Amino acid sequence: MHTQPVDANLPYNKSDEEEKKMILREYRALLRSLKERLKKGDKALLRRAFEISVEAHKDMRRKSGEPYILHPLAVAQIAVEEIGLGVTSAICALLHDTVEDTEITLEEISAEFGPNIAKIIDGLTKISNVVDIKADTTIQAENFRKILLTLADDPRVILIKLADRLHNMRTLESMSREKQLKIASETTYIYSPLAHRLGLYEIKSEMEDLAMKYTMPDVYHDIAQGLKDTKSNRSRYINEFIKPIKEELTANGFDFEIYGRPKAIHSIYNKMRKKQVTFEEVYDIFAIRVIIKSAPDREKEDCWKVYSIITNVYHPSTERLRDWISVPKGNGYEALHTTVMGPGGRWVEVQIRTERMNEIAEKGLAAHWKYKEGAVSAQESKLDSFLKHLREILNNPDTDTIDFIQDFKLDLFTEEIYIYTPKGDMRVLPKGATALDFAFDIHTQLGMKCIGAKVNYRLVPLSHQLDSGDQVEVITSSKQNPSEDWLGFLITAKAKSKVKNYLKEDKRRTADEGKAELKKKMEHIGAPMSQHNINELLIYYKKATQLDFYYAIAVGNIDLKDLKNFTLYGDKFQHPGREIKAETKAMEEDAAKIKPGKGTELIIFGERSDKVLYKLAQCCQPIPGDDVFGFVTSGEGLKVHRTDCPNAAKLLANYGHRIVKTKWAKNKEISFLTGVRIIGMDDVGVIQKITNVISGELKLNMRSLSIDSKDGIFEGTIMVYVHDREELNNFCTKLGALDGVSKIERLEGTND
Ligand code: MN
Repeated sequence: MHTQPVDANLPYNKSDEEEKKMILREYRALLRSLKERLKKGDKALLRRAFEISVEAHKDMRRKSGEPYILHPLAVAQIAVEEIGLGVTSAICALLHDTVEDTEITLEEISAEFGPNIAKIIDGLTKISNVVDIKADTTIQAENFRKILLTLADDPRVILIKLADRLHNMRTLESMSREKQLKIASETTYIYSPLAHRLGLYEIKSEMEDLAMKYTMPDVYHDIAQGLKDTKSNRSRYINEFIKPIKEELTANGFDFEIYGRPKAIHSIYNKMRKKQVTFEEVYDIFAIRVIIKSAPDREKEDCWKVYSIITNVYHPSTERLRDWISVPKGNGYEALHTTVMGPGGRWVEVQIRTERMNEIAEKGLAAHWKYKEGAVSAQESKLDSFLKHLREILNNPDTDTIDFIQDFKLDLFTEEIYIYTPKGDMRVLPKGATALDFAFDIHTQLGMKCIGAKVNYRLVPLSHQLDSGDQVEVITSSKQNPSEDWLGFLITAKAKSKVKNYLKEDKRRTADEGKAELKKKMEHIGAPMSQHNINELLIYYKKATQLDFYYAIAVGNIDLKDLKNFTLYGDKFQHPGREIKAETKAMEEDAAKIKPGKGTELIIFGERSDKVLYKLAQCCQPIPGDDVFGFVTSGEGLKVHRTDCPNAAKLLANYGHRIVKTKWAKNKEISFLTGVRIIGMDDVGVIQKITNVISGELKLNMRSLSIDSKDGIFEGTIMVYVHDREELNNFCTKLGALDGVSKIERLEGTND
């Protein structure tokens, strides 16, 4: 067993000998992490998996030049060390890329390691296609569905996949820019929400930070720098804060650990964005964590005792107490969170957990299994019911996958409320759930026939939003049927997909009537219902699908009187205004011709280019200098978005094949309209100062300036033409330096 360099000219240079040593070192580290979990015979099996993997990957290298085997080794290490998985998973992680990328077959794996391991590898092989195949939307969505299905099948598959993805994210540096964007977007789109749902907070946070590093490098580095600059101040403050608590806890005989740690960069960023504040103004940039040793039957009591000790030292905020011990989160998270007033009048968040709770917080699902011996805990059965629910939806062949993934993702992130049935059983629903969501949660038929509910004995409509602790009784009628407007207030994925399926069926039935009506009219004028003729009608009546068209006829939204204006050549229709339409169609076809491929790089010039028709996306209003990508739309040619556009992750993850690598040409002739928001102290001369900077000093062309002031604070929007990002940055710096101006930020643009 030895590795040989494929190409001696690679920038990476290590001798065979050094490489061999490095690989063995990693393998031994894996053995050490597994130590207590290795039972008789395990070691030999693991060794065998390692040898097979080394041999299978021996001619492969990673983009960085390193031997490929280091990747499966690292994935196994993450699975064991950071997710808490055992020997079986380590073996699977070592072999995870063999069936996909090498000569090894699933049958060989099965013969060597048994059907269980083969099944997990099979799952991993199937979902790995998500990354590389330049698939269209439906295939991508189908892949996501596969991921979710394997999750419901054997959660280990998805846990190993998360380890794989985490390692890919950690080593993203050596990838090409497009690969970086695609992988990072997919990660925020599906993997980090999954990690979150499975309670893997550490991994979720790291994935999001890494994704941000590649999709929004500037913001990421600014916040990272901010954290670095404030580190010594923060440490001093944390020490001062912790000192009296430490003394009290020790005096009370607790065996504990206490420390302060900064929050993740993406979560600081989200706060800045949500509350419209600067880095300096985010008050909870760190949290204090107290982790205590506690006997299983004393956990709750001990945590509350710690709470009481801490709040004797510092005053708590009454609004910010979270008790996730009495009622754990759906993903199993347990802890007490409180926010107290620390020295210097600063609010500080304190999280109190036992060692067991801490392990669950860090390792999520896998840690649950470890504690599975003994009684089945409340949060465990909740996870089981989540998996069951998932299986139920995915196995329904009528589910529209793309839609479902969207709704499902919304489910993943929302907070939860706890609702009681009349018998006192508890159901967990996402925050914002309505009485109708609750009915669907209990049973599909109950939802379909629901006409209202009694919440705490009071009659409420279907759309009534529930609060945690509500007791709900569903009222049904056999005459009830789902309607379109239900989709306006339902928020759970299950309920939405059931209603959508029903409506689709219903629409199909109505459309059949419309089709029959059309057929009669067509026969009357002697035109057959051919594909050509139907297409001609669709174009004229501006309908995307036949279903929409027939449905519109049936409900009277389309007047078929216009049929007499169609020209008939033989048995072929030509609709009125055909010539003009033909031109737009040609343009659409042009846009469709822009096929991304290796080496395609689109250079754009500004408002217009000779080669390709494109538009700058309104949702993010890119200007030269911004990191951008091109996206082939179905009707409007190519659109150019910023990589940090709010829509980018979705586009990149779902429509990888429609992405065109795009960069700006050096061109100083065209200017772009962009906007900034400015906030400051209302002072008599401030508007004059601002306009001086714009038209006097920088000689920029301003389109509009609007300012509102209230109680001594002004807030304004300036729309101005700039040539590129550098000019915009310069403009912002100049404005920011003015007396009285406290904040400048770029506008995101209008909705597209
Ligand atoms: Mn891999």
